[in-house]
Amino acid sequence: MWIEGNYRRNLMDMHIDDWNEEFLTKINCEEYVEALKDAGVQAAMVKAKPHTGLCYYPTSIGRMHKGLHGKDFLGEMIQRCHEAGIAVEVYFTQVFDNWAYENHPEWRTVGPDGKNFREYRNGGNFKTGRYGIVCPNNEGYREYVKENLQELNRNYQFEGMFLDMTFWPDICYCPSCRKKYLEETGRELPRTLRWDRKEFREFVYLREKWMADYAKFATAAIKEINPEVTVEHQFSMITSPWINASSELLMEAVDYAGGDYYGGFLQQSFINKYYKNVSPALPFIYHTSRCDPELVFHTTTKTKEELLLHVMTALVHNGAFLLVDAINPDGSIVPEVYHGLMKEVYSITRRYESYVSGAFNHNAAIWFASHAKYDPDENGVDTCDKSFDRKIYMDAPVAASSILRSTNLPYEVIGSRNLEGERAEVIILSNVAAIREEEMDALEAYVKRGGNLYVSGPIGNPRLEKLLGVKVLGKTGHQFTYLSPTKEGEEIFEKFSRKVPLTIPMAQYELEIVDENEITVLATQTLPYTMTGTEEFAAIHSNPPGIYTDQPGVIRKMAGPSTLIWSAAPIELSKPYWSRQVFYNIIRSLCGKLVFESNAPKYVEVINWNKEGRNYFALLNQQEEAPIVPVYDIYVEVEGAGKTAKELVSGKVLKTEILGDRTRILIDKLELFMLFEVE
Ligand SMILES: [Zn+2]
Repeated sequence: MWIEGNYRRNLMDMHIDDWNEEFLTKINCEEYVEALKDAGVQAAMVKAKPHTGLCYYPTSIGRMHKGLHGKDFLGEMIQRCHEAGIAVEVYFTQVFDNWAYENHPEWRTVGPDGKNFREYRNGGNFKTGRYGIVCPNNEGYREYVKENLQELNRNYQFEGMFLDMTFWPDICYCPSCRKKYLEETGRELPRTLRWDRKEFREFVYLREKWMADYAKFATAAIKEINPEVTVEHQFSMITSPWINASSELLMEAVDYAGGDYYGGFLQQSFINKYYKNVSPALPFIYHTSRCDPELVFHTTTKTKEELLLHVMTALVHNGAFLLVDAINPDGSIVPEVYHGLMKEVYSITRRYESYVSGAFNHNAAIWFASHAKYDPDENGVDTCDKSFDRKIYMDAPVAASSILRSTNLPYEVIGSRNLEGERAEVIILSNVAAIREEEMDALEAYVKRGGNLYVSGPIGNPRLEKLLGVKVLGKTGHQFTYLSPTKEGEEIFEKFSRKVPLTIPMAQYELEIVDENEITVLATQTLPYTMTGTEEFAAIHSNPPGIYTDQPGVIRKMAGPSTLIWSAAPIELSKPYWSRQVFYNIIRSLCGKLVFESNAPKYVEVINWNKEGRNYFALLNQQEEAPIVPVYDIYVEVEGAGKTAKELVSGKVLKTEILGDRTRILIDKLELFMLFEVE
C-alpha cells in the first residue's frame, strides 16, 4: 500500500460557505502545492466535498461552490500534487452535508426532541444551527453517497479517500431509523436510558453495527470502482460517548485508522497506542491542528517544539502525522507555515522514520472498551436529557495510562480485537461497564494462558463475576467512601492503614463472595459516620471514616496460573500521589520483571520496541505547556551487563554503567525527544 513510509501529511480545512462573492476566490493551487513540497509533505488530503456539501469539482450531483467559478480545484490539486511527488487522499464528508439537508428534507436526522439539526441554536454537540445533518440509515441518502463516491473515483485518480463524520451527533429518530429498528427487533426506538436492561444495551450496540455497516457500504462503493484506493473513515469519535455510535467495528470498514484530536500529549500517547493496535495496517494517522489549541483559534499557531513533539509522538507509535491547517475564507493560505515552520519540523523528524514500526515491549495493557462508553448510573434518564459529557469510561483508562507513564511501567493501550492474543502480563479493565460475550471469550482465553487481570469498578459480565468468585449486589449509598487495607493488603496500600484508609470520592460497588476458594481480601469498605448529601455530619467540612464494614473493597483471586485483582472503585482516578501509588503497586504486583526501568520524571515517556532484531528506545518530553524545558540526569536500565547504547542519527555513544547483570544507560540532558539503540 502507498501508505507505507508515508509519515508527513497535510490537510487544508476549508468548510467555506459561498454567500459572499469573495469566498474562495483567492485559491492558488500552485502556491499551495509549492508550499507542501517545500515542507517535505508526502501526502495531501484535498477537500472534494466539505460540510457545506458544495463541491470543489465539477459534478453532476449537487452543485459546485460559487467562488470557484467552475474551476476544478480538486483536479488541479491532484495533478499538481502528483507532479510534485505528493500522494493525494480525497476528503469527502458524510452525514454532515448542508446541501443534501436543504435539498432533501426527507433525509434529515430527527433528534429525540423531534428537531432537525439546523433548528437548534447555540447548543453543544453541533447543535448550533450551522450543520445540516442527514441520516446514513436513509436509503436515498446512501444512494447519493454512492453516486458521489463513484463519480469521484471514475473522474479522478488518487491514492486514498478520507470519509469524514462517520457518526450520528445524536440518537436519530428519523423514519428510516424507526423502521429499521422495528424490522430488526419488533420494537419502537427507546426513549429512556436503561443500562440495567439487555434490550437497551443491545439497542446501543445495534446502532454501532448500523454505523459500521454504513461505513462498509461507502467503502465498497469506492472499491467497486478503484479497489486500490485506500479508505479511511473518521475514527476520532471513538473517544466520545455511546451516543455517536462510533466503535471499534469501524475498523472493519477501513484500510487504516485515522482521526483528529486537539488535546495534549497524554491524550495523544493514549490514542496513538490504541490506534496502533486496532488499525488494520500501519501507519495510522494522527491529525491535529496548526491552530493552537484547535481550529476555533484560526489565527494562533502552535510552537515549533509542540509540533515537533506531536510529530515524534505519532512517529514512534508508527503513526503518520497530519497537520490540519485552516484556509482563510477568501481562499488564501499562510505559505510561511510551510516554507518555515513545517519545513523545519519535518526536516528533523524525517531522519527517524526508518527506525520506527515493530512491536512495543510492555508489561501491562490497558483495554479501551469501545462498546462500553457509558455511565451505568445514568439510568432512567429521558433520551432528550442525556449527557454528552465524556465520563468515567474514558477518564479512568486515561488516568491509568497517566500513572503508568509517570512510574515508567511499560504499557500499551489495546482494543477488543487485541484481547485474545495479548502478551502483556496484566490487562487492565479500568471501569469497563459492559463486556460483550465475544470479548469475554477472549479474556477467558487470555486468563487460561496465564494472563493476569486488574478490574476496577463494575464487573461487566456475569462470566467475569464467576471467574472472580463473586456476585455484585449494588453500590454503596454513600457517595464518599474509603478503602481500609487488611493485613494482607498492607504492602500494596503502603501509606494507608485501617485507621487512615484510602479516600474514594465516589460510591463503591458492593458484592458478596460466593466462592471463597483462593480469594484474599486486600481491603474492606469503610464509610463516613453519616450519609453523604444530608445535613448531618461528624466533621462539618468533610466526611471522615466512621463505619468499618466487612464488605470486600479490593480482592485478589488466584485462578490457576493467573491472578485477578478487583477494586470496588477505580483507584486509578485518584488525584493524591499516595493513592495513585496504590494503583501502581497493584499493577506492579501483577508483573514480573519489567522490560526496562527508568527514573524519567512523570511527563517523560519511555517507549521501547524491537524492529528487525534491533532494540530501540524513545524518550519523549511530553510537558503539556510550552515552552518545554529540558530534563537532566535520566537513566534507563535494561537486562544484561555490558550493553552499549548509541543515539540514533547522530551515532553518539551514551554513557553506561554496569549494575550486576544489568546495564544502566545515562542521559545527561533530554531536550524534546531522544531515540537510541541498545546492543
Ligand atoms: Zn435516522
